[in-house]
Amino acid sequence: MTDDINEIAQRVSAARAATEARGETFYPGASRVHLAAFPPIERWDDWVELSSRAWPAREERHYMLVPTTCFNCESACGLLAYVDRDTRQVRKFEGNPEHPGSRGRNCAKGPATINQVTDPDRVLYPLRRAGRRGEGKWERISWDEALDAIAARIRRALQEGRHNEIMVHIGRPGEDGYTERVLASWGVDGHNSHTNVCSSGGRAGFQFWMGIDRPSPDHEHAKVIYLISSHLEAGHYFNPHAQRITEARQNGAKLIVVDTRLSNTASHADHWLSPHPGSEAAINLAVANHLIQAGRYDRDFVRRWWNWQEYLTQCHPGQPVTFEAFEQVLAGLYADFTFEFAAQESGVDAAVIAEVAEVVAGAGTRLSVHCWRSAAAGNLGGWQVSRTLFLISALLGAVGTEGGTFPNAWNKFVPRPIHTPTHPSVWQDLSWPAEFPLAQNELSFLLPHFLKDGRGKLDTYFIRVYNPVWTNPDGLSWMEVLTDETKVGCFVALTPTWNESAYFADYVLPMGHGPERHDTHSYEQYDGQWIAFRQPVLRAARERLGEQVTDTRQVNPGEVWEENEWWTELSWRIDPDGSMGIRRYHESRARPGEKLTVDEYYGWMFEHSVPGLPERAAAQGLTPLQYMRRYGAFEISRGQGALHDREVPAGELADLAVTPAGRVYTRVPAPDSPNIVPTGAPAPDGEGRRPAGVMIDGIVRRGFPTPSGRLEFWSSTLAAWGWPEHALPGYIRSHVHPAELAPGQVVLLSTFRLPTQIHTRSANSKWLDELAHTNPVWVHPSDAARLGIARTGDLIRVETEIGYFVAKAWITEGIRPGVVACSHHMGRWKLSGPNQAGPNQAGPNQAGSEQGGAGAMMATVDLQHGDDGWSMHATRRVGPYSSSDPDTARIWWSDTGVHQNLTFPVQPDPISGMHCWHQAVTVRPARPGDAHGDIAVDTAKAREVYQRWMEQTRPAGRVSPDGTRRPQWLMRPLKPSAEAFVLPAGGDQ
Ligand code: SF4
Repeated sequence: MTDDINEIAQRVSAARAATEARGETFYPGASRVHLAAFPPIERWDDWVELSSRAWPAREERHYMLVPTTCFNCESACGLLAYVDRDTRQVRKFEGNPEHPGSRGRNCAKGPATINQVTDPDRVLYPLRRAGRRGEGKWERISWDEALDAIAARIRRALQEGRHNEIMVHIGRPGEDGYTERVLASWGVDGHNSHTNVCSSGGRAGFQFWMGIDRPSPDHEHAKVIYLISSHLEAGHYFNPHAQRITEARQNGAKLIVVDTRLSNTASHADHWLSPHPGSEAAINLAVANHLIQAGRYDRDFVRRWWNWQEYLTQCHPGQPVTFEAFEQVLAGLYADFTFEFAAQESGVDAAVIAEVAEVVAGAGTRLSVHCWRSAAAGNLGGWQVSRTLFLISALLGAVGTEGGTFPNAWNKFVPRPIHTPTHPSVWQDLSWPAEFPLAQNELSFLLPHFLKDGRGKLDTYFIRVYNPVWTNPDGLSWMEVLTDETKVGCFVALTPTWNESAYFADYVLPMGHGPERHDTHSYEQYDGQWIAFRQPVLRAARERLGEQVTDTRQVNPGEVWEENEWWTELSWRIDPDGSMGIRRYHESRARPGEKLTVDEYYGWMFEHSVPGLPERAAAQGLTPLQYMRRYGAFEISRGQGALHDREVPAGELADLAVTPAGRVYTRVPAPDSPNIVPTGAPAPDGEGRRPAGVMIDGIVRRGFPTPSGRLEFWSSTLAAWGWPEHALPGYIRSHVHPAELAPGQVVLLSTFRLPTQIHTRSANSKWLDELAHTNPVWVHPSDAARLGIARTGDLIRVETEIGYFVAKAWITEGIRPGVVACSHHMGRWKLSGPNQAGPNQAGPNQAGSEQGGAGAMMATVDLQHGDDGWSMHATRRVGPYSSSDPDTARIWWSDTGVHQNLTFPVQPDPISGMHCWHQAVTVRPARPGDAHGDIAVDTAKAREVYQRWMEQTRPAGRVSPDGTRRPQWLMRPLKPSAEAFVLPAGGDQ
């Protein structure tokens, strides 16, 4: 492959030389990496290609190229929509070379956006249920009817003080902070996310170190890349990171992959370690111990940046507070984490771990690391996987260095918006329960159990590009509460596509796909900051042609709307006369009393909150908004470097107070910065000074947003909030540790997906469906022989604590013995019944639309509930069908996989709050009568498992050192006011 890339590079260089020899300009693209194949931006108004359909006739098609941002994972890669100038329709999507993160490159899911836009099964019109919840009877209604009914409910709830009965549950995030601000304007602490079934375990480990919950590895310049996950091909920011990892490897970097599966990523590794799931932290600690014992760590970095003084003072009061004393303590702390111990825990040879430790030691400050979902999301104590991984970076001083790992806030930019509502004064216990004072994010996946506990109820519950029944563990408990109107009064699904949850909604409201909505994005993908603009491409195209578009519905298919205009409209209808104080946050500044438009919202943001953009735009005779509509992205800075090491200017320091450990407080207000990237927020000192930095060798430096201002090797927060035994980076034995498994049980690894899958929405993308439409269970040949599984394709039963699923076996040496694995992005289904019996069955009031579910990837199932629980059985699999898209008649597959998540009980980590996905399971050959995709679940047992895991928690009422619910410095989306943090007196917390 390297040879191929070198050959391409040589050909590009030759093309450049030839172009320049002709006196023409060679187009390098924003990435400056010779993207010669991309249309130059000066020709984006009229780009000509030959029609592939007309071939061999040379029929020219003229396109307007309009940038937007992909919505199919969190990487926010740039896309270019090819809008046909004759038909005014999008013909295809390709990469946007002006996007600094993705640099014109996309994964398969980017171009597949066109499938989602033209999907014959998408939701096109507002619908209201016309029968019982889940019965499948719908009536088409107007947007006005939907808005008025929903706004009236919310208005009444707010007027009656039932603020905690409003909740918006987010799946695919859009713009940073947008929905949170809408909810704050309503005075509601109603933001719920999917993060605790996704990445909060990984985040927590980084947050306890840095006060910032994401790493930003500079893979491109690394000497050694250390990944815990299949990050290269399917992980976080995977395309923007994958291209940089590939470049680093071309330059000689070594790739270490710790992944139980032989994932595509592992197949590229120089060193692949396949550990027993849950033992990853033990491996990290063995590597760290090697660095410590061999003295191969960066002493000066550790001395300057770790909070060792605080640690010695609090935990070793008999020791002198000197760095030498700390080093002596450090040498003993991890001495038991030998290569042999790690080998015993992980099953990986000690010699292999030793070899990897040497490679890591040789990286110096050019070690880039990443851990996101994977092991951190699979195991009890999984957050210690990322905490111990960052220990290695922190030992090597590979933090904020070229080729090292940055706190993401150094490389991300979130602009200040036009309106900033105040913090809500209420606290939502259904999302932030007292049992989890240190939870990284909302305990979203426990919502059904909290509702069943009677902890509260919801008047109006929104899901937004989210599918809780399918995405979460224990989805049938979700179904039970979503169909219970005493628990959820009104259920609104804001969704571009049908999904397993929307079937139980009261309103299904069609929202736009990526090229049909506005958002801004910025992510940490290299050492630099950029901002990208998602926009409705047909709107931008028409405006470029001089037409005026005042509402995105004018250009979107059917009556599909974009969310920003929807939230503004809903907020106005909740507070039509402004008397509730809501409307002012959704009003125009330029035209008081009128609605805020998306043009004004983004025009103001780009004009006032993005450094350098107004000047760059003006140089081209454009407004900042016009620039972003034209280019789709803007690079704000490159080479941020070690921001924590920067000196704090003298003008920001006055009336200082310095703690013995060096935390510096000042009375000078923080400088107004347009960047509002979320970080931890350390509290003021006892006299009201704000933290300004940290004293390092007599100089006040910016430091990190932790309580100490340093990297917190020892977490005073964990120590003070009831978990002193886990205050240091350490190893917590997983709930699937071999000692925890019953005889005959194996571990089911369920935290991965295929790189061509988009959670719920891949079912509405025919190219992706064709590429991947099944999720067999990976079984090692030795296990297959032991279990009596004769061959690949044989049906097996996988029994969890609350039920079982029936899947096909895939016998492969790509998984370690004693572990089985199943991708979690398959097994889509719809209920049989009115409107849902067939893939394209039109509803009685849908004007001939083809709604009812994704015909290419959703099996039709019979779902039964009896005395012994739930059972699901496919009554019809997918196959060819006729629709407005002739390709649906060419579907050659029938498989849709199995929905394993339904059979998983909730397993909340008591510290991070992360759902611990891995399951201890028994695998057997299927029984007579079993069919692929069959599910059985006992939700009464699910309750018992929930209650057992809750017993591990240490509630704030018992452990809070200051009478609050949660440390205020920890990050929290939509942070309530300080008063709301106070625990209620006498409450059972
Ligand atoms: S990595 Fe793929 S799915 Fe994710 S934003 Fe980029 S193109 Fe889209």
